[in-house]
Amino acid sequence: MHNGRCDCGAVRFTIDAALSPPVACHCSQCRRSSGHIWAGTLVDDAALTITGQDALRWYRSSAIAQRGFCTGCGASLFYRMDGENKTSVATGALDAPTGTRLAKHIFVADKSDYYDIADGLPQHEAG
Ligand SMILES: [Zn+2]
Ligand SMILES: [Zn+2]
Repeated sequence: MHNGRCDCGAVRFTIDAALSPPVACHCSQCRRSSGHIWAGTLVDDAALTITGQDALRWYRSSAIAQRGFCTGCGASLFYRMDGENKTSVATGALDAPTGTRLAKHIFVADKSDYYDIADGLPQHEAG
């Protein structure tokens, strides 16, 4: 069981499954909503329990997906594609130790210019 929460604690969640290795997304939507890059671990919705739903708001960030954030502190917590039974959960919101490791970088063609990716992990131009 993994526990996580937003910064103010109004939205909390548990993941009752092994974590899938998170993916770091460098696309402009992830950069703007997270403030840097988005590292998400994909979770089956059946294994994800969210409490504090009244503080959680879903924002339609594109024609195919929504992002869930805390209205109290603004933490970007979830990314969910329409019609999928999985949610990408902000790995940074999980209590440490997570026991998992970053798997790869995606949408690196869209990354900003103020940092380098130097961890040796696979990099994909797009998704
Ligand atoms: Zn919060
Ligand atoms: Zn992205």
